[in-house]
Formats: sequence, structure tokens, C-alpha cells
Amino acid sequence: MNIKEQLLNLKPYQPGKPIEEVKREYGLEKIVKLASNENPYGCSDKATEAVKNSLDSFAIYPDGYATELREKLAKHLGVEGTQLLFGNGSDDVIHIITAALLAPGKNTVMAHPSFSQYKHNAIIEGAEVREVELIDGHHDLDGMLAQIDENTEIVWVCSPNNPTGVYVNSEKLHAFLKQIPSHVLVIMDEAYYEFAVNEQDYPNTVALLNDYPNLLILRTFSKAYGLGGLRVGYAIGNRDFINKIEPVRQPFNSNRVGQLAAAAALDDQDFITAYVEKNKKGLQQFYTFCEENNLTYYPSFGNFILIHFKRPGDEVFHYLLERGFIVRSGNALGFPTSVRITVGTEEQNSELIALLTEMLKNPKN
Ligand SMILES: *Cc1c(COP(=O)(O)O)cnc(C)c1O
Repeated sequence: MNIKEQLLNLKPYQPGKPIEEVKREYGLEKIVKLASNENPYGCSDKATEAVKNSLDSFAIYPDGYATELREKLAKHLGVEGTQLLFGNGSDDVIHIITAALLAPGKNTVMAHPSFSQYKHNAIIEGAEVREVELIDGHHDLDGMLAQIDENTEIVWVCSPNNPTGVYVNSEKLHAFLKQIPSHVLVIMDEAYYEFAVNEQDYPNTVALLNDYPNLLILRTFSKAYGLGGLRVGYAIGNRDFINKIEPVRQPFNSNRVGQLAAAAALDDQDFITAYVEKNKKGLQQFYTFCEENNLTYYPSFGNFILIHFKRPGDEVFHYLLERGFIVRSGNALGFPTSVRITVGTEEQNSELIALLTEMLKNPKN
């Protein structure tokens, strides 16, 4: 069999360690997972209720077009239903778009470090990946512009960026979009939109769609909405473009339960507002910890924080793992001496911070 050559060195995505495995391995009773930017409070009761009411319909295929969710979300966003493309998480949307646009001889431009799946999918399609180093956690937009040529198909902007947590402000994004050639698709991955949208200079990307038909926005129900397990993500874009890539989408790529939960979750914006507020306070707990211990960090506009520990991130990761906390070592994220921590509940954050404080005090840790 002739597997594509570019797959030979490609590793499957390494997810955070499963809770049950860690319990067994370390003989721990309680495990707190703060590794995948999941909502520590779960999801809206309305979403749970919708799932409970769906228990008798598992035999029936979902509506492949997600009509009800589509109509509701379109109204919520102030766009047309035809401007939306749903995926089995936004990971799936990333896969659909890369399959539609990338091929050998084409290239794609992205920041580094950023979300791993842009590069991963581009490699599968045999396209050239052009990575531009972040500057102080931020996208180097001028550097990215300089990498664009006639064979560039997609430019990725992750805002807020995973794993640094900073966003591209409105002014910078406008200036950037003005200089992008019209044959290049700009993808704004806004997986953490809900946490950043209240910042005064956070761009209103949906409004920009009118001026830029080559702009596409990715969002998800996995992070703020707390529905990561049900896999619903989506793109918002130009109607004609969405229509053209639609054939790449698998017919039933968003499932019945996920669609119902997402639609119900949209009705509970109070849940989102309350979580975003609690997340902000949680970030403050970490900022205080960092300042008291002279650790540098990026002020975050997501539900996670990247902290520079000045020692191997894997060490900090293992120290916490043995004590019942799963976080993400920066080693796998392009920051070998940092750790990315999902903001938990106030109590979880305090416990984690107490352990870290202990670690820093004791040189043998
Ligand atoms: C989590 C995440 C995604 C993927 O989310 P899905 O669960 O697949 O919807 C996409 N982009 C970024 C930046 C993320 O952090």
C-alpha cells in the first residue's frame, strides 16, 4: 500500500491523559483535569435537559443540514443560515476547509506556536506549511503577509491564540485584511471568542464579512458553552464560498444530540455571561500567583493561562500529575519551559496554586 509520504512522520494528536488512567496509575481518588480548556462548570442545564429529551431518538439519523440549529444560530449571530457550515467540532471544519483548498504546490501561512491542527491537516493534503514565529505571544502579521505569494491558499489567525491567550485587535486586523490578496482565504479561529468579545478593541469579525468575502470565522460550542463532548463547531463566511465547500462535508457530520444541546445552550446566554465573569476572576488568581513568584505569563483572553516556569514544562506537569492535577506541558505546545493551565473553579485554582507555591519553595521539586 502506498500511504502518502507526508503521513510517515505525522503523529496522531496526543490528547490530555484520560482521568481514569491517571487515577489507576498514581493511585489517586480525585483528579482535576485542567488540560483541554473545557468548562469547569459543565454546560447549561438547558442543554442537559435537551439531551435528556432526546433519549428515544438515537436510531434516527440527524438532520445533516442542522436546520433548527442553523436557523437559531444565524439569528443569534445576525447572519443568513446559508453563511454557516457545521462540523463535528471546529476540528472537523478545519479538516473540511483544508481538504477543499490545499494540495501539493499550494501553501498555507500560520503563526507558531498556535493551534496544532492547521499544520497537521495541511501536511495531510501535501501543502507547504509556512510558519511565522509569534512576537511576544502575538501574531506577527507583517511577517505573515511577507510569506504570502500566488500559491498561498489559506492564512490562519487564531484569536485569542491558543496557547498564548492574546488576541489580534481591531485596528491591526483591519490593516492586515486590507493587504491580503483576494485569492487568499483568511481564517479567524475564534474558539475563545466568548471570553474576549467584551474587550473594547476586540474585532467584530462578523461585520467584516460584508467587506471581505475571503474571510472565514471559526467558532465552537466546545469551550465557553461546555459541550466539548458533543462535538459541534462551525464556520461563518461568505455564502457562495460556503456553498462551494459544502460537498466536502460528510453528510451527517454533526450529530443529533449535539445539535439539540447546542441549540438549547444558545438560549442560556446568562450561563455564558456568568462563566466568563468567573473565568476572569480565576485568571486573576493566577496573575497574583505569578506576580508573587516572579513568573512571567501572557495576560489571557481565553479560559487558560500559559505560565513560564523557567524549568522544563514536563517537570511541572509531572509534579502536578502525581498530585491529582492534569495540565498541559508547554513542551508539546512550542513552549518547553512553560505550562498551559485551564482556569478551573475558584477552589480548583486555589488548590493548584498551593501546590505550585509549594513546588517553587522546595528546590528538590
Ligand atoms: C479547542 C480548539 C478548537 C477545536 O475545538 P472543537 O472542539 O473541535 O470545536 C479549535 N481551535 C482552537 C484554537 C481551539 O483551542
